[in-house]
Amino acid sequence: MNSVEPNVIPFPTIRRFPAYLRLLKDLAGNGKEWISATTLAEDLKLKPIQVRKDMACTGVEGKPKVGFQVSELILAIEHYLGWDDTTYAALIGAGNLGSALIGYKGFVDNGLRIIAIFDKDRRKVGRQVGGIVISQLEDLAETVKELKIHIAILTVPAEAAQSVAEYAVASGIKGIWNFAPKSLNLPDGVVIQKTDLATSFAELSAKLKASE
Ligand code: NAD
Repeated sequence: MNSVEPNVIPFPTIRRFPAYLRLLKDLAGNGKEWISATTLAEDLKLKPIQVRKDMACTGVEGKPKVGFQVSELILAIEHYLGWDDTTYAALIGAGNLGSALIGYKGFVDNGLRIIAIFDKDRRKVGRQVGGIVISQLEDLAETVKELKIHIAILTVPAEAAQSVAEYAVASGIKGIWNFAPKSLNLPDGVVIQKTDLATSFAELSAKLKASE
C-alpha cells in the first residue's frame, strides 16, 4: 500500500468511501478476495473511471486481470477515515433524534462509539438510553477528560446549539457533529460537521421535479 496524503483526497471521494466499505465488507464476508473496478462500479452504480480515480486515492494499486485486493482496500479506506481506531463521542440532547442515534448500532462499524449522554432536563438525568445513563451537562468536562472523548454529537434545539457547543468546546471537545439547524460560531481549530436531512430532501425534491 502506498502512503496517501490525506489532504489531496477530494470530498466527493470521501463521501463515497462508506459505500465502498459496506460493499467491500459484504464481499469479504462472502469470501471474495479480489474485485475489479468495473464490478465495484456496477454494484455502486458509478462510472468505472470514477471508481478507478477513487481507488487511486486510497493508494491501493490494482493488479491486471484480478483488480483490487478486497482486504487491502478495506484497511486503506478505514485507515484513511480513521475508522480503524475507535472514536468516543458524547451525545448532548437525549430527545427524539438523540435517542434514535444512540439506538443505531451501525456506528460501531464506523469506529464511532457513543459512550456518554447529556441533557439539561432534570427529569431525564439518571434515566438510561441504549444502556447509557443520561448525565447532567455540568458533568461534561469531567467525563470528557476521564473517558478521553473528542467528539460531541449535538442534538439539542437550534436555540440552544451555540451555547451548548461553546460549553462543549470549553469542556475539551475537539469536534462537533451538529444536527441542530443552526450554524455554529466556534474558535479556529474546532472541527464542525453539520448534518441536515432537509438538504437531502431538497435534493430529492429538485431531482424529482427535474425528472417530471
Ligand atoms: P427533542 O426536543 O426531542 O430533543 C431535544 C433534547 O435536547 C431534549 O431532551 C432537551 O431536554 C435537550 N436540551 C435542550 N436544551 C438543552 C441544553 N441547553 N443542553 C442540553 N440538552 C438540552 O428534539 P429532537 O426532535 O430530538 O431534535 C433535536 C435537534 O435536532 C433539533 O435542533 C432539531 O431541529 C434537530 N433535527 C435535525 C435533523 C437533521 O436532519 N439534522 C433531523 C431532526 C431533528
